[in-house]
Amino acid sequence: MHLIRLPHDADLVTAITEECVRLGVTRGTVQVIGALKKATLGFYPQDVKEYQSHDIDEPTEILCGIGNISLLDEKPFVHMHLTLGKSDCSVVGGHAMSPCPIFAAECFIQPVEGPTLVREFDETTRLKLWKQS
Ligand code: ZN
Repeated sequence: MHLIRLPHDADLVTAITEECVRLGVTRGTVQVIGALKKATLGFYPQDVKEYQSHDIDEPTEILCGIGNISLLDEKPFVHMHLTLGKSDCSVVGGHAMSPCPIFAAECFIQPVEGPTLVREFDETTRLKLWKQS
């Protein structure tokens, strides 16, 4: 398990992806807690099949950031979901998009042994999902 403090002002998913490249992790799980200066969250309407993005233009706590690492176009790809707490303790959440500038973030990357895990385009959902083995 790798425990990493991510840099202030870096974009969350970009910073985690860079750590995966540095560590050579192409298959694993990731958790992060901390705080964001602001956030961009995605929602995927199943009828439209295109991500909607939502800007959260205020500082939030990362109450739960959870995701996975696999390969897309032969590079590590981080798929992450965020539950964020606002100053009034209300909660918003969604698919982590960019930009999500970090205020402070503590990240846990757990490599998982096993066969290569590759994403490919899925016609039904129009998402890049794990290739069926
Ligand atoms: Zn997602």
